[in-house]
This record gives sequence, C-alpha cells and structure tokens, in this order.
Amino acid sequence: MATVTSNRGAQFHYTPEVPVKLNPLFDWPPNLIEYAKWLVNSWLKFSGYLLCVLLAAIAYFAFHPSQAAMTSLSLGWIAQIWLRNLVIVFSVAGLLHLYFCMLKKQGRELKYEGRDQDRNSKTHDFGNQVLDNMFWTLGSGVFFLSAYEVLYFWLSTKGYAPTLTFAENPIWFIVLFPLITIWSSIHFYWVHRLLHWPPLYRVAHALHHRNVNIGPWSGISMHPIEHVLYFSTLLIHFVIASHPIHVLFHVYFQSVGAAISHTGFEGLKIRGKKRVELGTFFHQLHHKHFKCNYGNIESPWDRWFGSYHDGTDAATKRIRKRKW
Ligand SMILES: [Zn+2]
Ligand SMILES: [Zn+2]
Repeated sequence: MATVTSNRGAQFHYTPEVPVKLNPLFDWPPNLIEYAKWLVNSWLKFSGYLLCVLLAAIAYFAFHPSQAAMTSLSLGWIAQIWLRNLVIVFSVAGLLHLYFCMLKKQGRELKYEGRDQDRNSKTHDFGNQVLDNMFWTLGSGVFFLSAYEVLYFWLSTKGYAPTLTFAENPIWFIVLFPLITIWSSIHFYWVHRLLHWPPLYRVAHALHHRNVNIGPWSGISMHPIEHVLYFSTLLIHFVIASHPIHVLFHVYFQSVGAAISHTGFEGLKIRGKKRVELGTFFHQLHHKHFKCNYGNIESPWDRWFGSYHDGTDAATKRIRKRKW
C-alpha cells in the first residue's frame, strides 16, 4: 500500500491508496482473477452500480408509462418521465448532501478536500456553490436526461430500437450491464476531451469546472451543451438490443452515478469501516488538475493517451507539463 506523502497531503485532506486502479479487463497480459474481483466489488457489494440497477427496476416495474401511451408524444407520460427523474436525482443527490455536507455525519473522514463548499462564491450563480449546482442539475440536467429518455421510448414503440428480453438471452441480459458502464466510459472520455477544446470549454464545460471542491450536486451540474453531449451516450440503445431496464440503468448511471462519484468522500463509513464506495479519486484528480483523467476508471483511454493521473506525486509533476 502506498503511503501518503507530504506533497499529496498538502493537495488533499484525504488521499486513498494509490496508484488509482483502472478496470483490469484491459490489462495486458489479461488477468481474469483481478477482473473477477473488480466485478464482485462493483456489482455484488452495495454500490452506486447496484443502486442504479435497483432504481431502474423500481422505475420500470412501478412507474413506467405503458407502451400504448408512448406511441405518441403526449404531455402525460412525458411529464411522468421528467418527474420520475426529478424525484430520483433530487433524492439521491439531496440525501448525500444532507448526510455529508449539512449534517456532517462523517465529519471530514474520507473527505478528499478539507474545506466546505463555497457559500460566498464569486464564480457560482446565486453566489452559492450548492444553489448553483442544484439549479443546473435540476433545471438543464433533468430536462435533457428526460428528453433523451422520451426520444428513446417514443421511437422504440415504432420499432426504431432493437429490443431484448431476459427470456431470449439471460446471459447477454446480465453481461450488458457491465458493458454499458464500459461504453459510457469510452463515450465520456471522447466527449470530455472535446469539451476541453478551448472554445467549447469557455462556452460550456467551464460551468462544471467552477467546482474544484465538488459535492453530490456537482455531478451533473453542467451547461446545456454539455448535457446534450454527455447524455448522448444513451443513443447506443438505438444500435444495441436492450431491455428498458438497461436503458433506465444507463439513465441513472449517468445522473445518480455522477452525483455519487462527485460526493467528495471516498466512501460511507458504518461502525468505523468503509462500507460503501462513493466518490472516485480518479475524477477528483480531474477537478484538481484539469489536464488528466478525462474518462473514468472503467476504460483505459487515459492510460493509452498519456493523460492518466494515478494519484501519485510523479503523475502530478508529469501532468503539470502537459498542454492538454
Ligand atoms: Zn466532474
Ligand atoms: Zn473536465
């Protein structure tokens, strides 16, 4: 286990074990045992991934509009989808914010940044980081998330999207969940690199980067242009045969998953032990150093293209010399 050096200590209040691990599926030579452990850790323990599967199942079985209703674009079912997203995103980001940032139930334990979020901020709308983040999340974020969802479900009733049922192919049905997270990671890397192109950065992505000291509401606090690009990952379901639960999982992975990964805390402690993984140090490093970690830990694009910051001091020195 790597030790926390004084240099990193000065940058972060809490630093997890480094180097930050990436999905071992792409390691060479292949290490299937490590990949099996990665899958168990991600999917068989209570995690953000599992929460997104659970939310998708609840949304589909209890709160999903009928196929008949979705054949035409009518306000009723569109509003239902928008409200469902609003409630889910508000609940998850809100509960995380309440627990960690307002009630401070965990103090600063496992918190990457030592300080609180900005209440008197010149860079955020309303002069307040949390209000700014809530505005862009619940306004633009939930709107564009719902727009993609409505587009998918409406066009799928017309046969434009290939479908899949559990009975048809149970193994593929299950395998598709981790594949969606890998696809999302590939898509995020390239979209995110595009967003760091200076003209687009200034117009759109700078809004997300107002947040150096991130919190749950920062996850999808983005400019509308970024929302359109970021959520376009969902268009894959027009190509890959999917069940509505896969689509809903993907919807929550992009929204609820982002709230969780931006918590600013490495994990939730229960009775003195870290029980649930939350924030990802990999992305925290992006908010701190900008020119690194454009993707996430599910795919190796950053490692392949030299922008991988693994959390070590050597990586910080190397990344500071990078132009992009
Ligand atoms: Zn971020
Ligand atoms: Zn960025």
